[in-house]
Amino acid sequence: MSQRRLFVTTALPYANGNFHIGHIMEYIQADIWVRFQRMQGHAVNFVGADDAHGAPIMIAAEKAGKTPQQFVADIAAGRKPYLDGFHISFDNWHSTDGPENHELARQIYLDLKKAGLIATKTIEQFFDAEKSMFLPDRFIKGECPNCHSKDQYGDNCEVCGAVYAPTDLINPYSALSGAKPVLKSSEHFFFTLSDPRCVEFLEKWTQDGKLQPEVANKVKEWFSVRENADGTKSEGLGDWDISRDAPYFGIEIPDAPGKYFYVWLDAPVGYLASLKNLLEKRGENYDAYMATPGLEQYHFIGKDIVTFHTLFWPAMLHFSGRKTPDNVFVHGFLTVNNGEKMSKSRGTGLDPLKYLSLGMNPEWLRYYLAAKLNARNEDIDFNADDFMARVNSDLVGKYINIASRAAGFISKRFAGQLGEVSADGAALLDTLRAAKDAIAPLYESREFAKALRETMLLTDRVNAYVDQNKPWELAKQAGMDARLQDVCTVCIEAFRLLTIYLKPVLPALATQVEAFLKVGPLGFADAGAMLGKGHVIGDYKHLMQRVDPKQLEALFEPPAQAEPVPATPADLPGGEALAPVITIDDFAKVDLRIAKIVNCEAVEGSTKLLRLTLDAGEGRMRNVFSGIASAYKPEDLVGKLTVLVANLAPRKMKFGISEGMVLAASHADEKTHPGIYVLEPLPGATPGMRIH
Ligand SMILES: [Zn+2]
Repeated sequence: MSQRRLFVTTALPYANGNFHIGHIMEYIQADIWVRFQRMQGHAVNFVGADDAHGAPIMIAAEKAGKTPQQFVADIAAGRKPYLDGFHISFDNWHSTDGPENHELARQIYLDLKKAGLIATKTIEQFFDAEKSMFLPDRFIKGECPNCHSKDQYGDNCEVCGAVYAPTDLINPYSALSGAKPVLKSSEHFFFTLSDPRCVEFLEKWTQDGKLQPEVANKVKEWFSVRENADGTKSEGLGDWDISRDAPYFGIEIPDAPGKYFYVWLDAPVGYLASLKNLLEKRGENYDAYMATPGLEQYHFIGKDIVTFHTLFWPAMLHFSGRKTPDNVFVHGFLTVNNGEKMSKSRGTGLDPLKYLSLGMNPEWLRYYLAAKLNARNEDIDFNADDFMARVNSDLVGKYINIASRAAGFISKRFAGQLGEVSADGAALLDTLRAAKDAIAPLYESREFAKALRETMLLTDRVNAYVDQNKPWELAKQAGMDARLQDVCTVCIEAFRLLTIYLKPVLPALATQVEAFLKVGPLGFADAGAMLGKGHVIGDYKHLMQRVDPKQLEALFEPPAQAEPVPATPADLPGGEALAPVITIDDFAKVDLRIAKIVNCEAVEGSTKLLRLTLDAGEGRMRNVFSGIASAYKPEDLVGKLTVLVANLAPRKMKFGISEGMVLAASHADEKTHPGIYVLEPLPGATPGMRIH
């Protein structure tokens, strides 16, 4: 096989926070593929970088009291423990704020301009006069024009899901200063993707069979004029706004003072910049490398950034006269524990650094994710029970055990020397060697789950051989030394072959195995050979622990609440300690509504209760009993507004059914602090409004 040259990247993480488990999954997926290619003898440059530009970082830096450069440098400094911790073998990690990226982005832009694909247009945008800046959609808030929920973002409403332009918001305000934004016009630069040349090129590039079928189909929709589900119209490929006005943390556009590239223009250029930075450090020439005949270029990305990578990026490269990617490999999202959306506040997320700090083996996670990953862009779920089962039963129980069952006899009884293999063992080893031709193509096509399934089927065959031959019994029988050495030799040879097949997934373990077997770095070609009679192996040291359920419990334990607990309830003004912390989701379960007390009367036979007739805007009245008779006369309350727990299950009482509860305040100790106070909203609230 001739040596391939590959240039591989993962998506660039936005440098406004630490890695989460979704990043780590993508890096593990790409790393397994890259390691497989290297084991095939191919030459790979595998690079990453921080995506450092854009308004959100500029604003976050200002809040943190840092320059944007300082802010992203601090984030970058935290990357290494994750990448080293999970054995991600990047050749380089760089930043889109590096000089290579400034230069490359400007050059690509100038080349596109020369090709006649840059246009300018004056557009109106919201401007924060206090901050002297144009506001990104996510930094404009206001009332939803559809459902009238307050404090919604400029691009869509989180309450009703409506999508709109920031100019549609009612009473818009700047999320940065609180100021009322004004409309101001500004000249923007556009990459004219609607140009027939771009449309023709992209229709071909995206539909020539290289993309995953589900990705190609999705992309196809973007070319057509159509009616969307939400009633809006798609016009086919539109021109792409690639400029932002100062102040902006980014790359200034050549010959356009005060205009910067939109972060998504220079972010993918960061792939090339990181590669250039790597090659220059090695004394190699970037242009010469990119011109290498047959050079293959691949990007691993998540399904949320397909547009940028299958439309804008290939078009930018093609029309600036550069090489386009050979493929873009799209993966789905990772959910944790039965599809629950990852949420740190609920403690259900899988924090990668916490995982490592608990002493959990990074290769357990690599193995588990590989056992679930395929070539499609499907979501996968991390399930704690499944994780433990796969690592303990398959990885340790089936694979590691093969070595641990045979190595002791070889070193104690035969001075570490392997022996002759007889026909039954040789047949088994032939099967294992032949499996390379099935497993290697599965790695190549990113069908990692299938590659591991094939490998685990082979471990089953080896374990069946061990159980048939029972080396521990052979060891006790006189005159069976040769057979014992034969059987244990087969196990060690088999273990070496299995290690080759697992090495892309378990690189650190494979290194330990290489030391134990006293062999050099294993590649796929080594599956063709054997260690052979007379080869001396080293002492077996335990290779891998099992997962302890306590580690998993600790991993998913919500972070400790930093909440001061008062000494005694009596110390508190309200007479009782705070209830345990709840999340916003817990709170959202309680549906509190403004209700009008349309009638109120005493309850015959009760000194405590009043009967309230409430209008909560439902077109019907509610009957609610409330223990407030000691504090209010019925006529005090009629006509007033209050707060109703509207989704409390109806309760049958002696005097009738109570359909909810009104809110009232009181001290925990009624005797020392008498008084009950029914809640009443400030003027303006009307029956049926929900309390958020
Ligand atoms: Zn809404």
